Amino acid sequence: MADYIYTLETRLSPDQQKAVSLVVDAAKAAGMNVYLTGGAIRDIITGFPIRDLDFTVQGNALKLQKDLERAGAVVGNADSETRSLLLTLPGGVRAEIAMARSEHYDKPGKAPQMAPATIIEDLRRRDFTINAVALSLNEGSRGLLMDPFNGAADIEAKVIRILHNYAFLEEPSRLIRATRFSTRFHWPLEERTQARYDSAKENNYIEHIRSSAIGYEIEQLAYEDDALGVLKAYEKEGWLEVLNPHWSTAKVDTAGLSALVKTRQQMNELGYIPDVAPAVMHFLTERLGDKDISELRRAIPRKDMVEAWKDLDSNAHSLAKRLMGKEASTPSRTWQLLSSARPEMILFLAITARQQSVQQKIKNFFTKWRQVQQKVPLPEMTELHITPEMPAYPKIANDVFLLLLDGKLRSRTETLKYLKPIAPPPPPPPPPPPAKRGRGARAAVFAAAAASAAATPGPKGKGKGKSAPVPAIAAVAAPVAAPGRAVTKTAPAAKNVAPGKSAAVKPVEAAKKAEVPAKKVSKVVKTGKAAGKAKAKPQAKPKKKGK
Ligand code: ATP
Ligand code: MG
Repeated sequence: MADYIYTLETRLSPDQQKAVSLVVDAAKAAGMNVYLTGGAIRDIITGFPIRDLDFTVQGNALKLQKDLERAGAVVGNADSETRSLLLTLPGGVRAEIAMARSEHYDKPGKAPQMAPATIIEDLRRRDFTINAVALSLNEGSRGLLMDPFNGAADIEAKVIRILHNYAFLEEPSRLIRATRFSTRFHWPLEERTQARYDSAKENNYIEHIRSSAIGYEIEQLAYEDDALGVLKAYEKEGWLEVLNPHWSTAKVDTAGLSALVKTRQQMNELGYIPDVAPAVMHFLTERLGDKDISELRRAIPRKDMVEAWKDLDSNAHSLAKRLMGKEASTPSRTWQLLSSARPEMILFLAITARQQSVQQKIKNFFTKWRQVQQKVPLPEMTELHITPEMPAYPKIANDVFLLLLDGKLRSRTETLKYLKPIAPPPPPPPPPPPAKRGRGARAAVFAAAAASAAATPGPKGKGKGKSAPVPAIAAVAAPVAAPGRAVTKTAPAAKNVAPGKSAAVKPVEAAKKAEVPAKKVSKVVKTGKAAGKAKAKPQAKPKKKGK
C-alpha cells in the first residue's frame, strides 16, 4: 500500500507542511477529525504542483477561525452556509477548511440542501472521482486513504470522470471545472463523462449555474499556471461569457501576461515565490470595462486576493516613486529598498514600470548586483573565524556585500583589511570531562587529552584544530536571501539573513556584536589550560583509594 503520509511530507513545501500541522493541531484542539481532501491528494499521486490545501473537518470549520488567526492565518472568507473558511496561512499557503457535508439537490440551479456529514458522505458530493479522495490526518488512522469511487485508479489512468449521471445537471459549474482540469492536466474526459458533458452543453445546463459558483471559478482561474490557456478553452466552450458576458481573449493583455510568466520564473529561480494571482487577474481583464471588473471583484470569494488586485497599481506607483527618490540613491540603498519590498510588487513593477531608471534598478537587482555576492571572500572569512555560527555573521556578510555593491571596498585586500578587526579570537579548546572515579576514569582522561590536542593550534597556529567549518552554500547566498515568503530551497542560515540596515557600519561596531568579547575568550582559554593541569587529579585518586 502506498505510504501517502511519506509522499505528502516529501511533496509539500516546508510552509505547506507547517500549514498542515497548524490545521491538524487546531482541529485536534477543537475535537474534530480532519482530512486532506481533493486536489492536494490528486497532485500528490500525479506529481503535479500542489497549489492549495483543501481540508475537510467533521464539525463546524468556522470554530477554528480564531485559533488559526492567532497562528497568523488571514481569513479571506468565512462562509456561514457551508461553514467553511478560505485562508492564507503563514508563508502564503492557500487553504480551505470546509465542514464535511452531504448535499441534496432538489432542482438544478437551486442551492442544494446541506447537512453535516461524515467524510465518506462528503466525498459523494464531489465533482470528479479524481477529487473524491481524502487522506486521514487523525491519530489512529493517519495516512488512511478514503477513496470510495476508486479515484486513485482514474488518477493513474489520467481521466476525468463524474461520480454519477446527474453531476452536470445538479451542479453546472462542474462543466467549467471539467474544462479547467482537462486543459491543465491535458487529461481527457472519460467516455461517458464526455457524453454527459456534450449533452449538458447542448441542453444549456449552464444557465442554471449559481452566482456563488461563478465567483469561485473566476477565482480559481487566477491561480492557474497557464491562465490564458484556460481562458481560451473557456471561450471555446462558451464558459467565459458565463463568468462575465463581456470577457473574451481580446480583453487580455497577452504581452503583460507572458512577461508575468517569464519574470515569475526568473524570480522563482532566485528563490522568491510571489503570489501572482492578483497580477494574473489584472492582465486577464486589462481591456475590460470598469463596471465588469467591479463585478468580477465582487463575485470572487477570497477577499484578500481582491484587495491585492485592487491595490496593485497604487502600490507599484509608490514603489516606483521611492525607487526614483533619495531612498534609492546608491546601489546598496536600492538593494535594501527592493529587498524589503514585497516580491509581488517588484514583479508587477518589473512588468509595468515606464521609467527607464526604475526598470534598470529592478534589472540590476535581479542580475548584476547578485553577482557581487561572489566577491564576498568566504574562505578568508572562515580563516578569520567569521563563520555562520557567529550571531553577528549575517550582518557582517551583508555589510561587506553592501560595501562591495557601492564600490566602497574595491579589492580583496581592502575587504580583508575591513574584516580583520571584526574577526573573533580563535575558539577555546573544549573543557575536559568531569572527573570520574573507578574503571572509567582512565579512559575519560585519555579521551579528554585527545580532544584537547586536536583543538590546540599547532606551531604558528596552523594546526588542524584551528580550521573552522567550511560555510555552507547558504552562507554564500546569505546577502541575497529573499524576504517575505518562505523559500523552499533556502537553507536555514540564509533564512536568518536580514538585509543590513546601513552599509556604513564600522568594523568596531560589528565586532562589539560578535560572539564572545576578546577578554572573555582569553579567560576561557586560561580556564581551559588550568583545567588541563587538573587532569592529573583523577589519576591520583584511584591510587589513594587503593591504599
Ligand atoms: P485545484 O485546487 O488544484 O484547482 P481542486 O480539486 O483542489 O483543484 P478546488 O477548487 O480547490 O479544486 O476544490 C477543492 C475540492 O472541492 C475539489 O477537489 C472537489 O472535491 C470539491 N469541489 C470544488 N468545487 C466543486 C463542485 N462544483 N462540485 C463538487 N465538488 C467540488
Ligand atoms: Mg484545491
